[in-house]
Amino acid sequence: MKISETFHSIQGEGHLTGKPMFFIRTQGCSVKCPIREVCDQPESLVFRGGTEYAPAALAEMALAAVGPRGWVSITGGEPLDQPDFDELVAACRKLGLFINVQTSGLRRVNAPWDWCTVSPKAPVDELAILFAQELKVVYTGQSLEELRAYYERFSAWNYYLQPCADASGTNTDATIEKVFELNRLGMQWEFSAQWHKYLGVR
Ligand code: SF4
Repeated sequence: MKISETFHSIQGEGHLTGKPMFFIRTQGCSVKCPIREVCDQPESLVFRGGTEYAPAALAEMALAAVGPRGWVSITGGEPLDQPDFDELVAACRKLGLFINVQTSGLRRVNAPWDWCTVSPKAPVDELAILFAQELKVVYTGQSLEELRAYYERFSAWNYYLQPCADASGTNTDATIEKVFELNRLGMQWEFSAQWHKYLGVR
């Protein structure tokens, strides 16, 4: 399968922050994404490029990094664009690794995950997945109605708003204020920092 990069670090976002993980970033993203211009991972967006790996080889690399019962984060790009996605999950499971899938939620994830993070780039009506351990919305000024629709119609254990960075800076204050506003309206969203950026690690 086409891989943009692999690396061993700590999870910097969401509920699993601080957990050591082996990251497998797939190459290519077909999502019509409203924040494509400011995507954190521009080098992983196009389908040409990347390096071919066999799923079993990736699983072995992950095991060597994190050890038995460690975590693998399969991210992108959009991992569900990869035809070998299920095979990669199966190879990791066979070695006893835990699996965090990070997806935009526009396709069903059939392979069994341990922790699914959906970061939607479309209204909730257009998602193919309506349950995950965490929903992580990159805040770009979405309306209260749109955020309420995610909260009411997407079933998650954790709802996060994460700031967005563009050429003019990062909208951290506006994101925190929006979290507070949502809380006052009875929606228990939380703020997701990207701690790896503050720490200067991958
Ligand atoms: S869906 Fe994710 S990987 Fe694809 S362009 Fe948007 S932010 Fe980037």
